[in-house]
Amino acid sequence: MTDGASPDSVKIAFDNTYARELEGLYVRCTPARSPAPRWLRLNHGLAVELGLEPVELDSPAGLAVLAGNVVPPGADPLAQAYAGHQFGGFSPRLGDGRALLLGEVIDRAGRRRDIAMKGSGATPFSRGGDGKAAVGPVLREYLMGEAMYALGIPTTRALAAVATRAPVVREQVQPGAILTRVAASHLRVGTFEFVAARQDLPLLRRLADYTIRRQEPHLADAPDRHLRLLEAVIARQADLIARWMSVGFLHGVMNTDNMAISGETLDYGPCAFLEHYDPRAVFSSIDNGGRYAFGSQPRVAQWNLARFAETLLPLIDPDETRAAELASTAVDGFAHLFENRFGELLQSKLGLVGQDDADRELAADYLKLLADHRVDFTLGFRRLNDAVAGDEAPLRVLFGKAAEALEPWLDRWRARVHRGVTDSAERLAVMARANPIYIPRNHRVEAALAAAVEHGDLAPFQRLLEVLQRPFDERAEDLAFAEPAPAAETARYRTFCGT
Ligand code: AMP
Ligand code: MG
Repeated sequence: MTDGASPDSVKIAFDNTYARELEGLYVRCTPARSPAPRWLRLNHGLAVELGLEPVELDSPAGLAVLAGNVVPPGADPLAQAYAGHQFGGFSPRLGDGRALLLGEVIDRAGRRRDIAMKGSGATPFSRGGDGKAAVGPVLREYLMGEAMYALGIPTTRALAAVATRAPVVREQVQPGAILTRVAASHLRVGTFEFVAARQDLPLLRRLADYTIRRQEPHLADAPDRHLRLLEAVIARQADLIARWMSVGFLHGVMNTDNMAISGETLDYGPCAFLEHYDPRAVFSSIDNGGRYAFGSQPRVAQWNLARFAETLLPLIDPDETRAAELASTAVDGFAHLFENRFGELLQSKLGLVGQDDADRELAADYLKLLADHRVDFTLGFRRLNDAVAGDEAPLRVLFGKAAEALEPWLDRWRARVHRGVTDSAERLAVMARANPIYIPRNHRVEAALAAAVEHGDLAPFQRLLEVLQRPFDERAEDLAFAEPAPAAETARYRTFCGT
């Protein structure tokens, strides 16, 4: 990229509240040096959003910072402490084993954002791990985060991906990389579990009040603010999981340390998008029991939120029974919040305007049709847009031999969709924003990563990224990116926590 800037020219206006206010929840730590770093990708749009100078960042000085070789003035790099339930089992001490929080900035919209590095070397939490990350998973997280962002789903995002050119030993030796990640915060359910497991009530109160100031400031003076924090986090997760389910996103490793208190999607490890619709779908190589199957995500989220609620009990009410009652009422409310939100999203996807008691059934029946006939989830909805616009042929083609089974449902849907107050242009506009044509198809993602890792060829990655940044407008030149993978490929598709 460009050169000529002096090594001290990268200025980032850090303001590090986590380091200042949450002593006891981190260990200061410096990133490892990268011998000969090279850009993989810099996210200019996000840099601008953060109030950073993309041109300044896109320089040897910027590269030195994003490769961990220079700690910029004002940064206070630290590894965060957290615990977590992993596949149901509790680990009281996980923490950032290969990540560092550099610091926080206030973005151009006035929001506080974390800037953190992943793959920047060992920390006191590494537990025998090398603290490194490989190019493949780093680019995967970059792509997935940007795709989710473009789909309108709350998510952490990549500011940069840098190749370290140091080898990383996995099953095979891989080229190493560092991802710089931006998040509303990196507070996790596991952060609260870490403190609760130590029964450190003053620290718990400090953490909860910090979280409230940071993400729910309107609650700061409420006497019942900790219960209301719980409710707010539950509401954010209900919205998030409903959005995941509405685009066929499978997180794959919903451990409590991977659930962000902010309601952003966090940690793109073994995640994948559904091809044909199947609530039992599991892609992760380590999820043998199917704990984190696609259709289980709402239930798992509620389970994680129950673990979060338990950590807050001593703050919710001094009377233990009362605290437990209030907390479990809040957690039980998740199911209802999720159902409502998912119902709304499905209504938009089906182009149903206005309320009708039968809509829920109409939506459920469509999902059942998709499941029974293994129809592509994304196109199954997108082709309804064409149908509303007057062309039902692509939908029938998609259903193939099952087109006959579709007809009775189509009759019901047609009758319902043409009712309602708005004109068809408005209905179509709602559907156009609800039903993407481009999602990160697993075979496309793998091909882009393989080109980068095996041949150092970033062109397929750049091209896919461009396509995914505009997921809703159909473009003739990009139609190949909308095609599902061959069924056999999806059947053997496995993802890895591969770090
Ligand atoms: P993850 O699966 O990425 O959510 O990580 C779970 C835990 O394992 C976290 O505490 C990570 O910091 C830690 N971890 C994962 N990979 C590594 C690694 N290569 N080196 C050190 N710690 C790691
Ligand atoms: Mg994690």
